[in-house]
Amino acid sequence: MKKQFKTESKKMLDMMINSIYTHKEIFLRELISNASDAIDKRYYRSLTDPSLGLEKDDYRIFIARDKDARTLTVTDNGCGMTSEELEKNLGTIAKSGSGEFKKDNKQPDDISVIGQFGVGFYSAFMVADRITVRSRALGSDTASIWESEGVDGYTIKDCDYSRIGTEIIIHLKADSENEKYSDFLEEYKLRELIKKYSDYIHYPIVMETEDSKLKEGTGVDGKDPEYETVTQLETMNSMIPLWHRKPSEITADEYNGFYTEKFYDYTAPAKVIHFRTEGTVTYEALLYVPAKAPFNYYSKNFEKGLRLYSNGVMITDKCEEMLPDYFSFVRGLVDSPDFTLNISRETLQHDHQLKAIAKNVEKKIKNELAKMLESDREKYEDFFKEFGLQLKYGLYSDYGMHKDVLSDLLLFKSSFEKKYVTLKEYVSRMPEDQKKIYYACADTVDSAELLPQTEAVRNRGYEVLYFTDDVDEFTIQTLFKYSDKEFANVSSESADLSTDEEKEAIKKENDGSKDLLTFIKESIGDGVSSVRFTSNLGSHPICLSSEGGISTEMEKVLGKMPGNEAGFAPKAETVLEINLNHPIADTMKKVYAEDHDKAAKYSKVLYAQARLICGLPIQNPSELSSLICDVLSSN
Ligand code: ADP
Repeated sequence: MKKQFKTESKKMLDMMINSIYTHKEIFLRELISNASDAIDKRYYRSLTDPSLGLEKDDYRIFIARDKDARTLTVTDNGCGMTSEELEKNLGTIAKSGSGEFKKDNKQPDDISVIGQFGVGFYSAFMVADRITVRSRALGSDTASIWESEGVDGYTIKDCDYSRIGTEIIIHLKADSENEKYSDFLEEYKLRELIKKYSDYIHYPIVMETEDSKLKEGTGVDGKDPEYETVTQLETMNSMIPLWHRKPSEITADEYNGFYTEKFYDYTAPAKVIHFRTEGTVTYEALLYVPAKAPFNYYSKNFEKGLRLYSNGVMITDKCEEMLPDYFSFVRGLVDSPDFTLNISRETLQHDHQLKAIAKNVEKKIKNELAKMLESDREKYEDFFKEFGLQLKYGLYSDYGMHKDVLSDLLLFKSSFEKKYVTLKEYVSRMPEDQKKIYYACADTVDSAELLPQTEAVRNRGYEVLYFTDDVDEFTIQTLFKYSDKEFANVSSESADLSTDEEKEAIKKENDGSKDLLTFIKESIGDGVSSVRFTSNLGSHPICLSSEGGISTEMEKVLGKMPGNEAGFAPKAETVLEINLNHPIADTMKKVYAEDHDKAAKYSKVLYAQARLICGLPIQNPSELSSLICDVLSSN
């Protein structure tokens, strides 16, 4: 007689049968996990009653495939089920036998029974149109067969089944245009799925596999080699996860080999981070900092994330919630018995345990990178060359929210031997009278060093950081201060180095030359918001500096952003500064007094030069060149 599923189960089944879930393949993981749980239970009971158990090596999960019958069979020699248990466990969804078992028995710690497989068994209906289960329970003389074609209901009858344990026969659905269910009968596919999801099930998963062998007597004594296909029983899983072993017992080769195999990177990682945490959440993490950024790392196609396992069973390949953006380069996995195996991504996103673990993981990565910076500078610099940009983007893109985590991991080239320095090192070298942290922006370190303003700051005995990445200045602005010291762009007014006396003198000069300065500004046109004399330029005649929040360098970057090319980007307020201590200052005064026409041309040439010095383009080069020729010819 056909029995009806309980309403809830019916709904769940319906969902499974009509599932458009893309990872239908997880059904195998679920069945194998159930089988492994069942063996755990039998093994546990045999501890108190040895007559119920097997030799430890005899426990196994067997996978058989039959292409003609289109069936896939998963057999275990675990605890089995009575007909009542079949009824209770497979007739009702979310009736977690594992959960009940956990409550009833105080288990020793070495047995891991994974509970909460809410939809486990039913997931097989994603690929099957009929499922047959034959089972004989531990201590029972009779066996039962449970069979179902889905929502219609199920039958349970007595049957012959000599061994203790369970056999689950999946009758695969017919192939359709979108779905090739018969793939699940292919050796390569099953091998791939077992490796992917169930590699660390701690009982052997055995399957009959085919191999091509040289026929005996051929290939020797001048006979042509002939090959034959032989079948053999092969254990498909490696059983003990590398990360379950003690770090002290794992060699660098093993760590690296695992990384290359599982994360498809041919270069050995720069750093391995392997740790275990017990407490409110218990988990193990095996993380790798790659030595090289993947080719698509700085593109939209790159997906970050860590692999999640629940007691060695893979749940998801890339859980992005596990990694903050600024550490997106980290590869690896987290395994926690507390994770629930669930097919829904939404649940993962709201999982509190997951969040707590992600926080710890982040802290750990930060500490390990800090340690690398401290103990192996060369290695850290190599790392930074690959991923430093991401750290800087990370800091900037969340508005400096994580500056505590990141600011000490940053490196910049500086005027101090043109090497990478940390902000900490910079600050530790600051002379007492230096109030701010100075930086200069340019496309290369050399051009940053050649800026007139850089020279002026260095002449005071101050170190200058050289910013050559677009994001640098934005990042530093989100930091705002480091160790209570403000950052100052050497090309902006905030870098003002003059003493009060010098300021007073310059102000007087500027006030006295108002007419000239206004004349120069107007001759230049829209290019600058003001023109002034300065005494801070060392040997350089002129420079462009900026006022307000946007520097000339930021203007360049913003102008390159999509949508801003047409000139919509915010503009820097540019100031043309003329060195009062350079002969050009007197020349300008003199020419202005004698010949306004000429003074206007001089002004334009000065402005064009100032733009060139700080790497800004010249709008009309041919006009400029005739202007220069005019000026040269008139002397
Ligand atoms: P869950 O594993 O989360 O409990 P399932 O639907 O996968 O949910 O399975 C329901 C129950 O059926 C299990 O808890 C277990 O008691 C029983 N069961 C499933 N597969 C087996 C098996 N191979 N051997 C013994 N019992 C099994």
